[in-house]
Amino acid sequence: MNSAQWMEKADKYIMKTYGRYPLVPVRGEGCILWDADGKRYLDFLAGVAVNNLGHCHPKVVAALQKQAAEMIHCSNYYHIPNQIALAELLCTHSFADKAFFCNSGAEANEAAIKLARKYTREKYGDPERYEIITALSSFHGRTMATISATGQEKVQKFFDPLLHGFSYVPFNDADALAAAVTPKTCAVMLEPIQGEGGVVVPSADYFRKVREICDRHGLLLIFDEVQVGIGRTGRLFAHEHFDVVPDIMTLAKALAGGPPIGAMLAKDAVAASFSPGTHGSTFGGNPLVTAAGVAAVRAVLEEGLLNRAEEMGDYLVGELERLKEKYPFITDVRGIGLMIGMELSIPAGEIVVKGLQRGVLLNVAQDRVLRFVPPLVVTKQEVNEMIAVLDGILEEMKP
Ligand code: PMP
Repeated sequence: MNSAQWMEKADKYIMKTYGRYPLVPVRGEGCILWDADGKRYLDFLAGVAVNNLGHCHPKVVAALQKQAAEMIHCSNYYHIPNQIALAELLCTHSFADKAFFCNSGAEANEAAIKLARKYTREKYGDPERYEIITALSSFHGRTMATISATGQEKVQKFFDPLLHGFSYVPFNDADALAAAVTPKTCAVMLEPIQGEGGVVVPSADYFRKVREICDRHGLLLIFDEVQVGIGRTGRLFAHEHFDVVPDIMTLAKALAGGPPIGAMLAKDAVAASFSPGTHGSTFGGNPLVTAAGVAAVRAVLEEGLLNRAEEMGDYLVGELERLKEKYPFITDVRGIGLMIGMELSIPAGEIVVKGLQRGVLLNVAQDRVLRFVPPLVVTKQEVNEMIAVLDGILEEMKP
């Protein structure tokens, strides 16, 4: 079947939960995708920061193939060495002592919310201490608890009543956070860099102040690293840039190099609040996906991808800055590593459509922000190719 035929069939059978661009990708390698008609695309979206290693990284493919032949699924027992190996890898490279595995970013945040509430209630013996403060424009997932945590009305609309016990403050405003704390507050949950909110990088001292507020009031600090974790910003975890340690961290997207996975990590003192029977997930930490996870995290660490994200991020920002000089409707270029946003004074959706037609996959966050999250293995030549296409599109869009 060709792409048009596939899209017609999708309209018939697939629920329209996503706004989809007309593309049927069937094969990928590194930063390149091919569609069902054999057309080539340069991928600067990477499954929204999932394919940090590029498509079909050989070590991830090999780990999946080997594990699939040995055991695909088994839960409720200890004999899942990959899960233990991945937990060890993540804990030895972070502040955390223990990991819980699940299947998505939303599910990791659900686990974080449950753990924060249980831990705080037990610690202070106060059943009323359950509120979690999150940021406006944040994004934490599509389940009921995580849309309640998300600071965007468009995500919540039509699904109320929302889960009780969330309040929202402007991101990057420590005074607003301090003013929002009440005797009911149990935790603060933030993305180190807002992704869906439009690649919003906070000021250097924001998280230090957030940490102080949390410590002063006995609140847990939860970092949602779902989009920015696993090397995207040039560090394994984005919060490392801000020199601050959270109590809980959630991961997903790039953690297994493609297969569905989520993780919630915490220090021992907090993690101990979960005991057998308090939380779970049938597929969480599944042998297949954690085999890929071990291969993916090792590859990020061992193949120099942290340095590469930083180097290529600097190069891409430089090139985007050059375009900003040329086109006055580009108002800002920002980001850390390969988590980059370019803000425009005009809607960016048309640029994405034109990019797709010219074989370059781009993406928009919050209407006016083009988001660049290519695989960390992206080359200078590939950046140059994308910039040339983008330059051509922007030239056509000049008022
Ligand atoms: N948190 C953040 C910061 C995200 O960017 C996303 C996905 N865009 C999620 C949570 C939800 O992850 P998932 O789609 O895997 O549930």
